[in-house]
Order: sequence, then structure tokens, then C-alpha cells
Amino acid sequence: MEPIYDAIIVGSGLAGLSCAKHLARQGFSFLIVEAEDAVGGRVRSDYVNGYTLDRGFQVLLTAYPEAASTLDYKSLDLKPFVPGALINDGKYFIRLSDPFKDPSCLLSMMVSNIASLADKLRVAYLRQKVMASTVEDIFSQPDKTILQSLKDFGFSDTMINRFFRPFFGGITLDNTLSGSSRMFEFVYKMMAEGQVMIPAGGMGKISQQLAGELPPDSIRLNCQVDSIDQDKSQVTLTNGETILGRSIVLATDGANASKLNSAIEAPPSNMATCLYFSADVAPINEPVLVLNGADQAGPINNLAVLTNVAKAYAPVGKHLISVTVLGQSPGGANLDQTYEEQLIKDVMSQAKSWFGDQVESWQHLKSYRIANALPNQSPPWLEKSRPVRLGKALYVCGDFRENASINGALVSGRKAAEALVSDLKVAICK
Ligand SMILES: Cc1cc2nc3c(=O)[nH]c(=O)nc-3n(C[C@H](O)[C@H](O)[C@H](O)COP(=O)(O)OP(=O)(O)OC[C@H]3O[C@@H](n4cnc5c(N)ncnc54)[C@H](O)[C@@H]3O)c2cc1C
Repeated sequence: MEPIYDAIIVGSGLAGLSCAKHLARQGFSFLIVEAEDAVGGRVRSDYVNGYTLDRGFQVLLTAYPEAASTLDYKSLDLKPFVPGALINDGKYFIRLSDPFKDPSCLLSMMVSNIASLADKLRVAYLRQKVMASTVEDIFSQPDKTILQSLKDFGFSDTMINRFFRPFFGGITLDNTLSGSSRMFEFVYKMMAEGQVMIPAGGMGKISQQLAGELPPDSIRLNCQVDSIDQDKSQVTLTNGETILGRSIVLATDGANASKLNSAIEAPPSNMATCLYFSADVAPINEPVLVLNGADQAGPINNLAVLTNVAKAYAPVGKHLISVTVLGQSPGGANLDQTYEEQLIKDVMSQAKSWFGDQVESWQHLKSYRIANALPNQSPPWLEKSRPVRLGKALYVCGDFRENASINGALVSGRKAAEALVSDLKVAICK
């Protein structure tokens, strides 16, 4: 039987969609097979009773170079967070207006003893360093943990624990700061060069935009791939159906890629739980990220009133609050119910200590437990380059191959498409 498609792409996360977009641009045919009932993988939004619930709190950094060249930002109708953060130190809120663009903003933190004068100078130095480096420079320097890097820069423990730990802990979903210093500097550069935004209609609009550019009938949903046969260039679905391509692109998360091909090494995952609450009154009025800067103060790592950023995230007259809790939690694909009930109580109790009695009227909407939220790319994971070619007519992409971000997923999808196109062109010429 002759293959109908140049490529079968397994997975419709950003990596798979990016790969498909680049193949389509060059006139190659493909079929995306996706296990879930919608595209997007980890970048999806649910629309529930007028609320937009992203599957885990996420943001787009507009300076991401690959995102800027792949996505149509204008039609995403992006809405900005204000730079910096509001940090709760256990007693008070302290504003950090913009350490990424304006180190002088540390003045308020100096007054509150979170940052020292030396921290301010270090922020200025760090900013100048990342601005002077290219993304390639950053990703080719020796890697170390974020914590080690912050210590090497000389930051005070208070600055690390009150600001960097919740901020970069929230980005890497690991508040031990054992993540990569390369990612830290990359994100710092992106923050310094662009804005932190979400699409007016939810993060899922990013995936929907990419999928919307693909030819009709090029995506099959609810089709889980059970196995692949590299020699025959064939995938077998869990319902027994087989599909033949000239090549196969594995664009799943690391754990599933490794199940489909044991030669693929998957990093462990960082987990997060995201809780959504509805409120009649917003606890703050700004589009700002709120950080827990107090050790042991409760489960919240970061919180945002999403309707302060993008009004359409909730019905008129309502506000949507997103809370991120880091770390392991019991339960399978769904949260353990007893654990969830306790977590909701603990989160509300901590929020009450921040915002007062108004929190008692918050309504819990939904919680998302995301077991494989981010590949844990602690050093030295990123030091080893992982090629997209896995052998004859088999390619692999995904954030776990590049780096754990929207940008990393998009880059790896493009790289897989480029390798595949180049190989197919050679094969056609023979
Ligand atoms: C809570 C959270 C917060 C984040 N915050 C940010 C952030 O603020 N900024 C940022 O840049 N990044 C963030 N990220 C990371 C970013 O979302 C991911 O890096 C990116 O979406 C990964 O895309 P991917 O295509 O590599 O993988 P995935 O999105 O996991 O896509 C893989 C796809 O493969 C499908 N699949 C798996 N197995 C099979 C199979 N056997 N058959 C068929 N299909 C299969 C899955 O259903 C899925 O759709 C966050 C992620 C999470 C979860």
C-alpha cells in the first residue's frame, strides 16, 4: 500500500502544530493524530459557564523569538500583565515594579528589606548581561541550577527567597530552584525585551490559531497511537487501525514519546495544581502577578486575577482568580477528592490572610492537577543536544527535546519539519 501522507505527526501540542505548519508551508502532506478531544496539549482552555479556564496558569512572553515569528499576535488580541510583581512577605504586600527592565524599582524592596543596595546593582548587572547575550549564547554557556546561579551572582538570601524563588519557581514549577540557569537567563532576557501577556480568549487560542491555519481534515482527534513501526513507517492506533506515512514525527510529551520508542529518554516531570475561583469583587484591581514571598506561609506560589488582565475570562460582573500550587499531589489523572477539599480550604485561608474576609465569598470553580506539566530540565539536561532525527524516517520534537516553554516547543516542531523536508527532498531526487 502506498502511503497517503508525507508525515504522520503524533500529537497536536504546540510542537506538533508547529511542525505541521512548516510542512504545510512547503507543500508537504501530513496527518496529525491526537489522543485528546481537542488540539493544544498543555496549551488548552476550557470554556465553562462563561469562564475561560486555561489548563494551568500560563503566559506568553512576547519576546519569544519563535513565537513572534510563528504566531499572529495581533489576532490573538493579547492583553498585558503589568511588569514585576506584588509580593506578600507574610504581613504586607510589596510592589516590585519591574526588575527586568528597570533595576531602580528595587527601591521599594530596599525600603522593606527584601532587597539590598547590592541586590539592586546585581539586578542591573544581570539585566545588562542577558541583554548583551544572544539566545544562542545563553543556551551554550555551562549550565548550573538557578539557585547556584543566583548565589554566584551574589544575590542576598532574602532577595532569593522572597522574589526569585516564587517567581522562577512559578515559571519552572519547581520552587527549589533546581532548574537550569540557561532557562533562567533566557526567561530574564525575554522579560526584559518584551511583555507578559495572555490572549483575550484564553491561552488555548494560541493552539487554535495554529490549527486553524492547517488544511481541513489534517487533524484527527480522539486517536491515541498505541505503537509505531519505524521500518514500515506506520502507526497503529489503540482501536487497531493502522496509518501509513512516508515518515513519522513523534510530537508527544516526553513520557509518551518514550513509551512509543524506548530509545527516547524522557526527563522526569514537574507537577502543578491550578485552582480557579470566581468572585464578585476582585481582591486587587491591577493586572499583576501576586507572589507568595513568605516561606511556609501556605500552599499558594502565585496568584492572578485574570479578569484584571483580560475581562472576557469571566462573565460580566464576575472576576476570575487563578492560584498555582507547586509540587506533588496525590491522585491519578484527577485530583484526590479529600486532598482537593483540604487544598481549597488551605488556599482560601492563605488568601484570606492576604485579602481579608472577602475571600469567604469566593466560589471554587475547578482545579487542574497537571502531572506532566513541565519536563524537569535541571542541569545537565540541557547541555546535551538532542537531535530531531531518530533514524530512518522517524523524527521527534517537543519541549522536552528543546527547552520547557512555548518557545521551545515551537522551535523543536520547526526543526523536525526542516529535517523531514530535507530528507524527503533528497529521497525524491534519488
Ligand atoms: C501549568 C503549566 C504552566 C506553564 N507555563 C508556561 C508559561 O508560562 N510559559 C511558557 O512558555 N510555557 C509554559 N508552560 C510550558 C508549555 O505549555 C509547554 O512547554 C508546551 O505547551 C509543550 O508543548 P508540546 O507540544 O511539546 O507538548 P504537549 O503540549 O504535551 O503536546 C503533546 C500532545 O501529544 C498528545 N499525545 C500524547 N501521547 C499521544 C499518543 N500516544 N497518541 C496521540 N497523541 C498523543 C497529547 O495529548 C498532547 O496533545 C507551562 C505548562 C504547564 C502545564
